[in-house]
Amino acid sequence: MRFNPSLTSRLRIGFLVLFALLLLVSLLGVGRLFQVRVNYEDDISRFFQLELESERLRSAFILEQAAVRPPTGQKLPSQAEINRAAANFSDAVSRARDLTGSDVTLTADLNQLVANENAWRQKVAQPLVKGKIPPPGVESRQTKAVTDSGQKLADATRDARDGSRDHARTETRNTTLLVAAGLAGALLAALILFSGLINSMRAPLGRLVEGARRLAGGDLRTRVQVGGPVEIATLGRAFNEMANSLERDARERDRVEQMKDDFVLTVSHELRTPVTVVKGFAEMLTAQRQSLNPRQYEAAEVIAESSAQLQKMINDLLDLARSDAGKLRIEPHPTEVGPLVQRVGRQMRPHFEERDQTLSVSIQKDLPEIEADADRISQVLANLLTNANKYSPEGADVKLAATRVDDEIEFAVADNGPGLGEEELEHVFDRFWRAQSGETQEVGGTGLGLAIAKSLVDLHGGAISADSSEGEGATFRFVLPIAKDGRPTRTEPASRTKAGAPT
Ligand code: ADP
Repeated sequence: MRFNPSLTSRLRIGFLVLFALLLLVSLLGVGRLFQVRVNYEDDISRFFQLELESERLRSAFILEQAAVRPPTGQKLPSQAEINRAAANFSDAVSRARDLTGSDVTLTADLNQLVANENAWRQKVAQPLVKGKIPPPGVESRQTKAVTDSGQKLADATRDARDGSRDHARTETRNTTLLVAAGLAGALLAALILFSGLINSMRAPLGRLVEGARRLAGGDLRTRVQVGGPVEIATLGRAFNEMANSLERDARERDRVEQMKDDFVLTVSHELRTPVTVVKGFAEMLTAQRQSLNPRQYEAAEVIAESSAQLQKMINDLLDLARSDAGKLRIEPHPTEVGPLVQRVGRQMRPHFEERDQTLSVSIQKDLPEIEADADRISQVLANLLTNANKYSPEGADVKLAATRVDDEIEFAVADNGPGLGEEELEHVFDRFWRAQSGETQEVGGTGLGLAIAKSLVDLHGGAISADSSEGEGATFRFVLPIAKDGRPTRTEPASRTKAGAPT
């Protein structure tokens, strides 16, 4: 099994290793400094004692010299006194030898002193004890040799003491530097450890952020590679589970939507024939008014009107269901704009006259052809004009216009009716949406007309938009691309047309 400690364990291990390293470096440093100090103090006291012993050796030698030169009047020096002085000297030598330790120079200087003192004893002291006067110059030479070697030992001891102090200083400085380097090394190791820890989290976290972005962007197949410390790996697994469930839900939603679309498509289709039959018979009956009494005629008229409404609703539903299923087809051909607009205006005019409204139609001269399904574009225009007619009050002015805007033809239907509020405008193309105002509710409708108009305009590669302020009328515009050489200039709906209408 792969060792993959949790974030807390990693932090704990990291801090523990750092603590152990710092402790080790500090202990080693403090121990070494303590040792240097102790060694220094030992050396200093040893060298002081050795200096003391050097002084004692000098005194012992002076005593020896005094012993071999008796006071005037006495004939020969006292052997006992000489022996005592010699014993003093030997004692001092053996103590000094203990103190020189392993120091080669000091031991050599001490040996030299002892050898010179021995030579002095043989060549000066013994002849004098026997009453012989040593040859001239010998006594002074031997005495000087002993005194000089004593002085040399004292000097060497002082030098050794100074050397020990310098050594202690150098050692202290080196140890301090080593401890500082050790601490810096431990901190560096900790830095590397923590940056490793952060790096081990960075890559999986980055993958999670990227995955979340893709998921939010709608790519439900997004999954992340699970990795990093336990906590982040758990987060990665949870993310993948969430993506799985989102994808499952979306698939289920699509399936239900599909079922609903299929149902609406089938039902609308099945309803169309009987409703057409009912409408046909009702119209036949109203056409034979003379053979019906007034109540029968009235009933036949109601049936004809209601079945016409029903038929329109069924056709709208069919169009929407086909559009959702991608089965709404248009048959675009190069189409002249002027005649198309004039025809729709002509067909709609009686409805405006019925309500004392004026409909003015303006068409820019020499408009190029559009690549469009004339029936479907007429349907869109008729829907916009019907809305203007039914939602505007009696006596209102409605304008229908067609103009060129760059490479597109803009169709606009403007009225001076009640208009729509800012929030209402956001929903005006939603299916089944109708404004809540009393005027709208008084007028019959299904809330499907504009949704179908939008689908049809989109299918043509155009764009539709609405402009209005509450109480100041509404303008509905849609743009269609101009046909070039009999082909449309645009096959895909654009997000925003040059005329500025958002899709
Ligand atoms: P319907 O007219 O059958 O209700 P539509 O989709 O054609 O459905 O219109 C949706 C809603 O938009 C309408 O119910 C109405 O509230 C609002 N509407 C459409 N055209 C206009 C207009 N010219 N003036 C004011 N409101 C309008």
